[in-house]
Amino acid sequence: MSSEEKSLNFLEEIIENDLAAGKYQSIHTRFPPEPNGYLHIGHAKSIYVNFGLAKKYGGKTNLRFDDTNPVTEDTEYVHSIKEDIKWLGFEWTAEFYASDYFDTLYEYAVKLINKGLAYIDDSSSEEIARLKGTPTEPGKDSTFRHRSIEENLRLFSEMKEGKYKDGEKVLRAKIDMVHTNMLMRDPIIYRIKHAHHHRTGDKWCIYPMYDFAHGQSDSIEKITHSICTLEFIPHRELYEWLIQQLDIFPSHQYEFARLNMTYTVMSKRKLLQLVNEGHVAGWDDPRMPTISGFRRKGYTPASIRNFCEKIGVARRENLIDLSLLEFCLREDLNHTAKRVMAVLDPIKLVITNYPEGKTEELKTENGPDESMGHRHISFSNTLWIEREDFMEVPAKKWFRLAPGAMVRLKSAYIVKCESFVKDNNGNLTEIHCTYIPESKSGQDTSGIQVKGTIHWLNAADAVPAEIRLYDRLFKVENPSSEEGDFKEYINPDSLVVLSNSFVEPSLLDALNNEHFQFIRKGYFFPDKTSSKDKLIFNRTATLKDTWVKKV
Ligand code: ATP
Ligand code: MG
Repeated sequence: MSSEEKSLNFLEEIIENDLAAGKYQSIHTRFPPEPNGYLHIGHAKSIYVNFGLAKKYGGKTNLRFDDTNPVTEDTEYVHSIKEDIKWLGFEWTAEFYASDYFDTLYEYAVKLINKGLAYIDDSSSEEIARLKGTPTEPGKDSTFRHRSIEENLRLFSEMKEGKYKDGEKVLRAKIDMVHTNMLMRDPIIYRIKHAHHHRTGDKWCIYPMYDFAHGQSDSIEKITHSICTLEFIPHRELYEWLIQQLDIFPSHQYEFARLNMTYTVMSKRKLLQLVNEGHVAGWDDPRMPTISGFRRKGYTPASIRNFCEKIGVARRENLIDLSLLEFCLREDLNHTAKRVMAVLDPIKLVITNYPEGKTEELKTENGPDESMGHRHISFSNTLWIEREDFMEVPAKKWFRLAPGAMVRLKSAYIVKCESFVKDNNGNLTEIHCTYIPESKSGQDTSGIQVKGTIHWLNAADAVPAEIRLYDRLFKVENPSSEEGDFKEYINPDSLVVLSNSFVEPSLLDALNNEHFQFIRKGYFFPDKTSSKDKLIFNRTATLKDTWVKKV
């Protein structure tokens, strides 16, 4: 289906109706990350939705850092977030920070106090929670609820000036303590926090709460469609109340289901634990569901965008299978990744009837499309092949090497296994073959048909490389829903490092943005630490989904 034929998702419907009704001339969305961690694949969905809608309808998208919590935020995160969005292929119209609006937000709070719609509460947080009631019990008014406007103005100004300690006072909106929506029971909108902020430094010791910054920031930026995830549904009422009482630009909030994916965790708090406790090597560890982790593993921006397109947006929560993301990657790389040879678990193959000291240059294709061109690989009497391509006692339907069996060496000759050598411990050390000189690929006149083709490398020029094989980070589909600590479900085999592997010499020049298909082995990508002195390749994905349930 082309995108034109596809039916509209619910957000597109809302936008088209709004535009048709003349409610807005053009739309304006925003992506509002809190700079307290690296972006993950869930954020990619939000980015795709926000930037994608604006692009489709000729609108604009702001990048707004929601940095109202001074304690957990850091500029390292700001940098990584910007890098990741750009890498995904999106450009923001403007870059803003909620902290840029601290002065305006303060004025808004004063405005609410002046309207008799906010008050300073001296109660402890326990007392505030106690009086709040429960979803089935009404709340009760705080004794401070009836303070005069003058007193509230004075106290709020003193809070700002640093006269009080953390937690001594808060500013609350005066709404309704018996409201059915708990968030409308006089929510706290400002709190005291004597903390250094990564942008405003020590200028402020009071900070607005999320609910008193988010909608207001949307409004200041004239965001028409403020798109967020379903857990914000109960906040919508407060979002609208505040905009109405402050009489500012009427931004509207719309909610969609967040992305949940199998075999991973997605909350930044949990990801931070994995990093801090050393379960992974950092935010960009290729096992992490972060954008930077996927990038380091070898994912392409197109594959992630395509994944976001496929999962779509809806208002119902679901759990997306990780293999869909892998599917999108294979779809992208199948036609574009250069096909090369690498032997991950090498065993020596000696061709006894091939002249000692002779080297031949053989032509091999770079990929299925002719446009990808070809290259030359060298061949001699001593090769590396994959240990698993030989069976001393062949299984049924074994088309690879075994005593007496024949296979084709990819782009080279047909060989026949004559014998093998073992060391004193019974470990296989060498396989001895003869080759059929008339069977050279492309000019085969031997008339011999073989069913198996295996990959190989010339031992004389194969280059040692470290290969990192990644698997799912968790053993269970939904680690967050299991009993106990989610970290108990970490897959102990999520990383296997092969340090005796070999690759083609052409890979010495592999750039850090080149994707490869190691023939028969999967998609691989040079690690960011790979160098000519030590080649390191990350497996991005296997060629086929190895987790498909065996029937
Ligand atoms: P987390 O729960 O992982 O800590 P968050 O919601 O606190 O994430 P923010 O930085 O506030 O992270 O998120 C920025 C935007 O990305 C928000 O609009 C949020 O709704 C959206 N978002 C976060 N996680 C997901 C997800 N899994 N799927 C879709 N959108 C998401
Ligand atoms: Mg958030």
